[in-house]
Amino acid sequence: MYDVKGNLKAVLAKLPQGVRLVAISKYHPNEYIEAAYEEGQRIFGESHEQELRQKVDSLPKDIEWHFIGHLQTNKVKYIAPYISMIEAVDSLKLLREIDKQAAKNERVIDVLLELHIAEEETKYGLVPEACRELLADGEWRSLKHVRICGLMMMASYVDDEQQIRNEFRIAKKLFDELKARYFADAPWFKERSWGMSHDYPIAVEEGSTMVRVGTSIFGPRVY
Ligand SMILES: *Cc1c(COP(=O)(O)O)cnc(C)c1O
Repeated sequence: MYDVKGNLKAVLAKLPQGVRLVAISKYHPNEYIEAAYEEGQRIFGESHEQELRQKVDSLPKDIEWHFIGHLQTNKVKYIAPYISMIEAVDSLKLLREIDKQAAKNERVIDVLLELHIAEEETKYGLVPEACRELLADGEWRSLKHVRICGLMMMASYVDDEQQIRNEFRIAKKLFDELKARYFADAPWFKERSWGMSHDYPIAVEEGSTMVRVGTSIFGPRVY
């Protein structure tokens, strides 16, 4: 078996105080998650609803699960009863559905808004202007069963460290702007979820509060 415990320790050793690790366990078996759990890891991230549900049913109940992938609105109802955080919210429509399903479950669900800053073409994530517009619109204030806790983003998958750094800086700058404009009185708006296996050391230098690391802990995914 892959040395999950050793790898986990090595990643944790590189994280400064105050930066949390979301161990991304998608496509990895329960025994890998259990190994990380035995080392004290409690936050895990998954990106597929069915795989997540199977893991939730068979793993310890004190695990905090983060949904990190693209979430279709028709899947929200399945994860709403138990999910700790939905990290990749990129539309008002999705935010409304999360609010509705959270209300049905009599809970408040923590979410992050997903930014699209990387140069890569993707359908997902809000470009900075769209993120500003979503908040300026104001409807989110009436959604009492979602709590916007910060921003999430993925940097471009490139070797150019300066480019990656610049993208994190753009995200941090936008975070500061939105914090001042909309969340100055909201202490929960504090999370900056950036940094993956190939770039988390740069991410923590650029203000990440939450890194999402999979491969460096669990090895390559077998799809
Ligand atoms: C898979 C995934 C990760 C983890 O990627 P690694 O390169 O394995 O560390 C982080 N964030 C998101 C959104 C992902 O889908």
